[in-house]
Amino acid sequence: SNVETMPAQYAALADVAPPALKKRVVSGVQPTGAIHLGNYLGAIRTWVSLQDLYNTLFFIVDLHAITLQHEPEELTNSTKSTAAMYLACGIDPEKASIFVQSHVAAHAELTWLLSCVTPIGWLNKMIQFKEKSRKAGDENVGSGLLTYPVLMASDILLYQCDLVPVGEDQRQHLELARDIAERFNNLYGGRKWKKLGGRGGRIFKVPEAMIPPAAARVMSLTDGTAKMSKSAPSDQSRINMLDNPDTILMKIKRCKTDSVNGMEFDNPERPECNNLLSVYQVVTSKTKQEVAEECKDLSWGQFKPLLTDAVISHLKPIQVRYAEITADPVYIDRILANGEDKAREIADVTLANAYQAMGFLPR
Ligand code: ATP
Repeated sequence: SNVETMPAQYAALADVAPPALKKRVVSGVQPTGAIHLGNYLGAIRTWVSLQDLYNTLFFIVDLHAITLQHEPEELTNSTKSTAAMYLACGIDPEKASIFVQSHVAAHAELTWLLSCVTPIGWLNKMIQFKEKSRKAGDENVGSGLLTYPVLMASDILLYQCDLVPVGEDQRQHLELARDIAERFNNLYGGRKWKKLGGRGGRIFKVPEAMIPPAAARVMSLTDGTAKMSKSAPSDQSRINMLDNPDTILMKIKRCKTDSVNGMEFDNPERPECNNLLSVYQVVTSKTKQEVAEECKDLSWGQFKPLLTDAVISHLKPIQVRYAEITADPVYIDRILANGEDKAREIADVTLANAYQAMGFLPR
């Protein structure tokens, strides 16, 4: 059963549907640095609206954060601050399971099993690998960067999830996760699994991609054609969720502009303009038409203060809540421990099934 096929009375009241009828959704952010406006508007904010409709698991994908060279201390700090940011942005531990990926050992274990059924040719085709490895240079590229999508497949398949909210940047990796699931099911899920006394059939559910409603793609402040990202070297290229008002003011003041007057959406010649108008629209909760009308005659100099104020006031309550949450570290530890327990319950069953289907002696 799932949300789409559930009886109409439940579909209408999806947030009170029995948990078993709800589809499962998993997603996460890497603790590779400060969470920025792109992570928030493109991912975390949309999760908040998903947690009522679905069974949700949101985790901090720390194992992914070491695919490029990293500072151990930064990983520790980023992991803690990302967890606090999930809560500050409105992820509710009563509704969603929040946990740290490395705390559920099944992620690393399943990755080994899946690595052995994933042809290397599939991994060589991943665009993100090509891009990231080109930038880092051969000597600095660990093999984990190549097998990263297999870890991501484990993250998804362990939870038998139905839907994975993904941005454009992760679509190819989700496709790969589906291919890996199908290959594993074909190799070990059918006859062989039955012979072992199992129920037969599928070991992994093949998940679907979901573009969450209202997900926004936020571009860099210094280049409207590159996405805003944690790992971009220049801090000027992004607005971090914890930036103070002065910093936000300075970043918007210095961001890349053009010499055209009047602000407009969707002009391919003006990616920076489209990006900042879109951010303005989202943080003010206005419609595209309203923003287009309001800003069509504004110069950059007139528009920037509007955007600055809107971003600062949108982030303020989140920053206040973040400060409250981090003042009590025991609170976060407890939430992460609870989330881990709930995640393990599901993940351990899938992992045991995968081991058994492959012929490993049961533990
Ligand atoms: P890194 O630079 O380390 O790759 P990142 O900032 O790209 O980090 P991820 O941790 O890879 O962020 O992604 C976390 C989530 O945030 C994903 O769902 C991703 O699609 C989303 N996301 C990342 N950057 C943006 C962006 N600029 N606009 C919208 N969504 C984004």
